Amino acid sequence: MGQAIALETGVATLGNMEAIQFHPTAIVPVGILTTEGCRGDGGILRDVDGYRFMPDYEPEKKELASRDVVSRRMTEHIRKGKGVKSKYGDHLWLDITILGRAHIEKNLREVKDICESFLGIDPAVDWIPVRPTQHYSMGGIRTDHRGESRTLKGLFSCGEAACWDMHGFNRLGGNSVAETVVSGMLCAEFISDYCESPESNIDISTKTISSFINAEQEKLEHFLKPKENGEKAYELRRAMEDIMMAKVGIFRNGNDLQEAVDELRDLLKRSQNIEVKCQSLAASPELFNAYRVQRMLKLALCSAKGALERTESRGAHSREDFPERDDKFWLKRTLATWVSPNDLEPTLSYEELDVTKMELPPGFRGYGKDMTIHHEDTQQRTDEVETLREKMQDEGKTRFEVQEALMPYNSQLPEIYQGKNERLREKFDD
Ligand SMILES: Cc1cc2nc3c(=O)[nH]c(=O)nc-3n(C[C@H](O)[C@H](O)[C@H](O)COP(=O)(O)OP(=O)(O)OC[C@H]3O[C@@H](n4cnc5c(N)ncnc54)[C@H](O)[C@@H]3O)c2cc1C
Repeated sequence: MGQAIALETGVATLGNMEAIQFHPTAIVPVGILTTEGCRGDGGILRDVDGYRFMPDYEPEKKELASRDVVSRRMTEHIRKGKGVKSKYGDHLWLDITILGRAHIEKNLREVKDICESFLGIDPAVDWIPVRPTQHYSMGGIRTDHRGESRTLKGLFSCGEAACWDMHGFNRLGGNSVAETVVSGMLCAEFISDYCESPESNIDISTKTISSFINAEQEKLEHFLKPKENGEKAYELRRAMEDIMMAKVGIFRNGNDLQEAVDELRDLLKRSQNIEVKCQSLAASPELFNAYRVQRMLKLALCSAKGALERTESRGAHSREDFPERDDKFWLKRTLATWVSPNDLEPTLSYEELDVTKMELPPGFRGYGKDMTIHHEDTQQRTDEVETLREKMQDEGKTRFEVQEALMPYNSQLPEIYQGKNERLREKFDD
């Protein structure tokens, strides 16, 4: 909702909304995730025949490949007809029985509880029905390093709601801890500084505020009015979910994405005619859903349109028709704005990345064959970083001096965090 509110200002931008991570092992049908610890501890994936298929696709990493890779392989395998048919769609099996009851009850107790409560099975004996599901949004409200929107002063965002650059187009499992703790700590400091500064004086007339509240109130009341061919918000939401899973999912291609954009536009148009039957303006789940669904559709359109325009594969964004990562053309963030309330899709623009300023220039980070179209500055910057690092190390420079030379950031931290960060077994006096 926060992202949608920011989008609807028409001023704040959302960044990289097409970058969506999928998690391989959500239980079917309810979609609750079983931790990756299941595979980390030795659990394996099996198909309809009970066959362990991951070693065929990823001989080296097997089930321990990164979550986007495992999700893609599972989808590929299901597409080959190797999924288990169920009335909730095809799925595969996660087998942790091989870990033994003692291990499961000690280390994977939460998984056991989920299986018992939501599936009525015992994972020490039964295989768990799983399939990949949408998990984490790398994109969000585009901010600067302080967590402030780059285009709307005074709007701060951090954590999963933000595009703060902790992640690019993918995210390592567990990185939310770093994100919430680090960005929470830094952005909170900047927010409190901002609130104490004269900059934060909000000079907005009460008339502007009351006209906004009245407009929102009118929207809510409009939902309650009887209409010819009134639309049901739940149906629109379900249709949106189906489109997103089928056409803006783990594998994407131009035709599906174009259809997704067209169909989502149509749903957004239809959402203007939503009719809520329950006439209460208070605590009404039906009204709550109606109020949200239009905004969800706008966010879905940002993801679908961004994915359609991004004619390459990068991190979690996997295009069947453009399998290469194209650093030459696509080393840039997608920015989405909703210029006018009557628009049916976002306006996209792009923010270029500068390879010559990077401490870690883009390299091959994938599996198997390198499918990268490299940026012309990458090799030069890689050599520059290596040479400088070696030279400074030979000269006995500290890691702080090396960091300062390669990519200085200390001055961008809130003042109280500008000291040297100690590592284990390091102790600084100052
Ligand atoms: C099942 C699951 C398992 C995960 N496992 C891991 C893991 O093992 N490791 C890892 O690193 N990450 C994991 N993640 C991701 C991680 O949990 C999230 O990325 C992280 O919690 C996001 O934190 P946040 O503070 O940014 O947002 P949230 O935790 O979503 O907090 C946002 C808060 O804002 C509140 N809020 C929303 N709208 C409003 C409003 N209008 N007004 C007031 N309040 C509002 C919400 O109620 C919520 O409390 C997992 C996610 C899921 C769903």
